[in-house]
Amino acid sequence: MENYGIDIWADDNFIIEDGLLKLNYASKPSLIDMVKEIREEDYKGPLLLRFPHLSLKQIDKLFTLYDNAIKEYDYKGKFNAVFPLKVNQLPNFLLPLIKNAHKYNYGLEAGSKAELFLAMTYNKMGAPITVNGFKDKEMIHLAFIAKKMGHNITVIIEGLNELEVILEVAKETSLPKPNVGLRVRLFNSGSGVWAKSGGIDSKFGLSSTEILEAFELLKKNDLTDILTMIHFHIGSSMSTIKPLKNALKESGHIYAELKNLGANNLSAINIGGGLAVEYSQFQRTTQYHLQEFANDVIFTLKNIARQKGVEEPDIYTESGRFISASSTVLITPVLELFSAEYTPEHLRLKEVNPPLIEELIELYRDINSKTALEFMHDSIDHLESLLKLFDLGYIDLEDRSNAELLTNLVIKKAIWLLEVDDYEELKRIDNKIQEKYLLNFSIFQSLPDFWGIQQEFPIMPITHLDKKPTRSASLWDITCDSDGEIPFTPEKPLYLHDVDLDKEEYYLAFFQVGAYQDVLGMKHNLFSHPTEINVVFENNELKLEKIIESQKIIDILEDIDYDTKEIKNILKMNLDDNTYRILNKYLNENSYLKTAWS
Ligand SMILES: *Cc1c(COP(=O)(O)O)cnc(C)c1O
Repeated sequence: MENYGIDIWADDNFIIEDGLLKLNYASKPSLIDMVKEIREEDYKGPLLLRFPHLSLKQIDKLFTLYDNAIKEYDYKGKFNAVFPLKVNQLPNFLLPLIKNAHKYNYGLEAGSKAELFLAMTYNKMGAPITVNGFKDKEMIHLAFIAKKMGHNITVIIEGLNELEVILEVAKETSLPKPNVGLRVRLFNSGSGVWAKSGGIDSKFGLSSTEILEAFELLKKNDLTDILTMIHFHIGSSMSTIKPLKNALKESGHIYAELKNLGANNLSAINIGGGLAVEYSQFQRTTQYHLQEFANDVIFTLKNIARQKGVEEPDIYTESGRFISASSTVLITPVLELFSAEYTPEHLRLKEVNPPLIEELIELYRDINSKTALEFMHDSIDHLESLLKLFDLGYIDLEDRSNAELLTNLVIKKAIWLLEVDDYEELKRIDNKIQEKYLLNFSIFQSLPDFWGIQQEFPIMPITHLDKKPTRSASLWDITCDSDGEIPFTPEKPLYLHDVDLDKEEYYLAFFQVGAYQDVLGMKHNLFSHPTEINVVFENNELKLEKIIESQKIIDILEDIDYDTKEIKNILKMNLDDNTYRILNKYLNENSYLKTAWS
């Protein structure tokens, strides 16, 4: 039975039981039950389910890994972590995270003024705040104000000019000074799609010369004591550990050199984010073990500290994807299967059919597991010939319809007879005959990284898992854009079930969507963010919390700066009251499609 690679990507967070996908937690509720409960309250369209216990699980994991490594190597520095806000700033995700991670003194990382405001407001007092990215004077002023509020804040400078602005603000105000960190421009760059974040030609960080100049500038102003941290970030989704080791050595030595030059309060190395998440449902793509990763960090820094005779630095991490990806699941109803009409009842056979049609009828009647592959090939050949005959005017539209139907029936039956998994040839043919599943969602809104950088996400149905899926599937969203498709790929085939949507519901779930997708998502065709719900547990009892309904059409129009009063007035002017009332109701619903059950 197909398990959609759940053993590869799911980390035991989900299990298949009784044909249903279940949450492997508390009372092990099925996803379909949650979906039904939400929909009973009349929330239709795509749903984003958030599971705060899963982001907490990742934080627990992170702290345990470093705890183990620190004990094993008798390391003297402390481990700290912050959540990089750019990965997911939405309140339904963020606020439970901050609350749940309280005991770890888990902090936040901000990369813009807006994010810094969030950090200043919601960060646990005393937990670290780090500030990255390019900054102007106003942003640096904000950091001073955060410090005055009592926050433990470190401004990580990306260039010498930022340090000059810090000195300026320090002179002009009587505010307490935030800590300062230096982002180093590494010679050893990361690997993976996002490697631009590190490396000698990186957008970010200070060269060796600039680091020395920064230190001299601090010294000249008698402010060396505000320098506390060395920072690097080699990029997202590291697939191997080697670039990190190189970066650690480089920045570890910079830390030690600066200490020996007199940076007395320098006490921490911030290794950025980059821990990978398993997005593949076909094979493991991350090639390191997490404990190995943490051990390497501790071991490398310990050695450098010993070699250079300085104290072992505290460690900060800013992993975001690793913390957040698994906690959010997108569930979309299937609206339609495009060859649903390919059933025998739709055949319009005649008294006398063209010979090739008669042969197709025989193929369909006589196919068995021994002949499946051969008959499938034959049927495709016949179809091609019949289509040519149609173009030449030798057969009519009914014959053509019969040819399409019969070929489709033969192929479906063949796939059903064969074991889908081990048939390379079948997969090749699948490419020609995939079923199109129309899903009630927008790829641009909900899976922007699929559209933008061909990021895979694990996909699977949440029911029917005790039945063999027989349709090679390509997925269509409801935007009017040909990029709104997840095509079938023979190397990474997605098989789904042949369902009769008039009789049964069918939902697909997309996993690992908690990192970056929410805020990168765009309103192409004016589809809004899906309805989101937090799934929490109290004494083992499931509770649906914080439902945020997908935005209404009228509000989306307002968001893009239309005068909504004007829109209403114009519509009203041309309609009678009753019709307008209906129109107004539609304006106050979201853009997603509504069918009997979707
Ligand atoms: C984006 C970013 C992160 C988070 O990276 P992940 O790959 O999501 O862990 C951490 N630190 C900095 C400076 C970043 O820019």
